[in-house]
Amino acid sequence: MITTILKGNIVSAASFGKLDITENGYLIAENGIIKGIFQNLPEKYSSLPIEDYSNNLILQSFSDLHLHAPQYPMLGMGMDLPLLDWLNTYTFPTEAMFNDNNYARKVYKKLAKELIENGTTRVCMFSSLHREATLILMEELENAGITGYVGKVNMDRNSNPLLQETTKESIEETLKWLDECKRFQYIKPMITPRFTPSCSDELMENLGKIADKYHLPIQSHLSENTNEIAWVQELHTDCTHLWALGQRQPLQP
Ligand SMILES: [Zn+2]
Repeated sequence: MITTILKGNIVSAASFGKLDITENGYLIAENGIIKGIFQNLPEKYSSLPIEDYSNNLILQSFSDLHLHAPQYPMLGMGMDLPLLDWLNTYTFPTEAMFNDNNYARKVYKKLAKELIENGTTRVCMFSSLHREATLILMEELENAGITGYVGKVNMDRNSNPLLQETTKESIEETLKWLDECKRFQYIKPMITPRFTPSCSDELMENLGKIADKYHLPIQSHLSENTNEIAWVQELHTDCTHLWALGQRQPLQP
């Protein structure tokens, strides 16, 4: 049994909506699992070594549930345009740069380091459409001690010519990527159709089948902006809702 005892000002959320602060308290973990937080050290642990963080805060790590790794180089920039113009003007050209593996390595190493240094240990992340850069991202996250999900983005229509796959390429690259993901222990693959305007019906259907077959979760974007919603309506006049794709519900009269 490995017992860890941390001492400091402990912030803990024992249940939803509850936040406790234990000043100069003790956090005790056995084999990496937290057993409890105590104001006074229980007698049975009194002979064990203590990691004393004195007046510092000890708190849970952060989980980032939506992060686009290839947009890291443009962090905080280009906030002057609405979604669809923003994608075409800033985002797609930036993401296209990740066909260069050396560039991907440099950026993703820095991103992984910055995440872990700022306390983010769990992620749910979009990569770009590039299979190799996605694997580099997963490698850097795993090496940095981060766990979570990463998706190779799928997009076979309506994009920048530098950042588009054919339907066949998108499916084949996804399957190849999934095969290569088996070497990771803490970073898992997630199927990631960018959003409806970027993915043909044929691609969507195939990604659904892949997710089913490999029991994979899916992430995407939905109804983020009124122009996007209107565009999806134009592209899919037979659907009542953006999320109804594939179900082919007839429009209400
Ligand atoms: Zn997003």
